[in-house]
Amino acid sequence: MTQTNALPAKPAKPAPNGKTAMVIGAGPAGLMAAERLAGDGYTVTIYEGMPSAGRKFLMAGKSGLNITHGEDLETFLTRYGASRERLEPHLRKFGPDQIRQWCAGLGVETFVGSSGRVFPTAMKASPLLRAWLRRLDGLGCVIHYRHYWAGWNDAGQAIFKTTDGEITAQADITILALGGGSWKRLGSDGKWMDILVAAGIKCNPFKPANCGFDIDWTDHLIDKCAGSPVKAVTLTCGTQSVRGEFVVSKTGIEGSAVYAISATLRDQWLETGVGTLILDLCPDRTIEDVTTRLAKPRGKNSLGNHLRKTLGLDATKTALIFEVTPRDIQNDPAKLATAIKNLALKIKKPRPIDEAISTAGGVTWEELDENFQLIKRPGTYCLGEMVDWEAPTGGYLLSGCLC
Ligand SMILES: Cc1cc2nc3c(=O)[nH]c(=O)nc-3n(C[C@H](O)[C@H](O)[C@H](O)COP(=O)(O)OP(=O)(O)OC[C@H]3O[C@@H](n4cnc5c(N)ncnc54)[C@H](O)[C@@H]3O)c2cc1C
Repeated sequence: MTQTNALPAKPAKPAPNGKTAMVIGAGPAGLMAAERLAGDGYTVTIYEGMPSAGRKFLMAGKSGLNITHGEDLETFLTRYGASRERLEPHLRKFGPDQIRQWCAGLGVETFVGSSGRVFPTAMKASPLLRAWLRRLDGLGCVIHYRHYWAGWNDAGQAIFKTTDGEITAQADITILALGGGSWKRLGSDGKWMDILVAAGIKCNPFKPANCGFDIDWTDHLIDKCAGSPVKAVTLTCGTQSVRGEFVVSKTGIEGSAVYAISATLRDQWLETGVGTLILDLCPDRTIEDVTTRLAKPRGKNSLGNHLRKTLGLDATKTALIFEVTPRDIQNDPAKLATAIKNLALKIKKPRPIDEAISTAGGVTWEELDENFQLIKRPGTYCLGEMVDWEAPTGGYLLSGCLC
């Protein structure tokens, strides 16, 4: 009889290689390291500060677990920006295709959505995590929850705070996979950075990545538009342009297109103290076309109605125009067309780091060899979001952690 919803069989435990590994942090990066090490015959012990594994991974699954991306590998690799060179060898070995095969091996089929993003068919992370933990159990990995890593003692042993007081542990190799600095309530509190800095490991401060931004909206705009999407727009910051949609929030802007441009906008704001986002509210029309349409007789129509009838602009786009465009410009078709194609939003600041989908900053590449081993601390490796790389949303973050 065929069983439905059955978990795949537990794998056979490989022959031990006589070596021990300690993995600290049971997020996707740590769990994947544990799987690979156990598969190579290491006796693996996982330590996790929280009472359960993969809390951020589960949170990522709440709005649809976008585990990787289906675009061609060469384009995929460009998403890692300045860190591409360091991640590329690993992504070439364990990239989108391998991630999908790995999911299938855990009994979780995936599909490529219309945007190219790859999701498990059930969209959620929990079936995948359940099957993964079962596989790790089969491989002989032991997980100690509520074991919070607090650094090393003078003998080089790892110190853990537990509900029964402090304990120490040692292994042939140590994997630190402690996550970034956002969504602290899910376990990744970023406090490891102080420990590593004190141990002489250079870390760059955390910066919000894939984040929203605050804008000083008027009360009128908040009342009218908070929560509304702005669809089919192009956002430009410096030399980067992104087409997509975002959401007007009470405090500013958020959503996929904003996240996609957030690293550039954040860095502009950090470097100059000012951040400006230019919106093209009619990206499919030329400025001449927009001007001609706006110049049509308005009759008794309000400007809002005129914008809707001539350009198809909805109430939110119209409210944004009114919010940032002086009245004299609103009455001049040529100037208004320029404003609609180049609407400048002044950013006050990024949203607080704890709200960001991910963080840049962390252990610098110069501290790591090509296998993510700390050069100053041989035998200790740093993996996943705690390393200073960033990537946009689209499955690139998890792909970077899993590789
Ligand atoms: C709302 C949200 C949605 C997201 N959606 C997606 C998505 O769809 N696709 C995508 O690619 N990415 C997504 N991400 C990002 C992705 O979840 C993270 O990049 C990824 O989980 C990082 O993996 P990690 O293993 O490096 O760290 P984490 O997942 O943060 O795991 C680190 C683990 O270490 C533990 N830990 C930390 N400090 C200690 C300590 N001192 N002692 C012991 N344990 C410790 C933590 O409790 C945690 O379990 C999303 C993130 C958020 C917040």
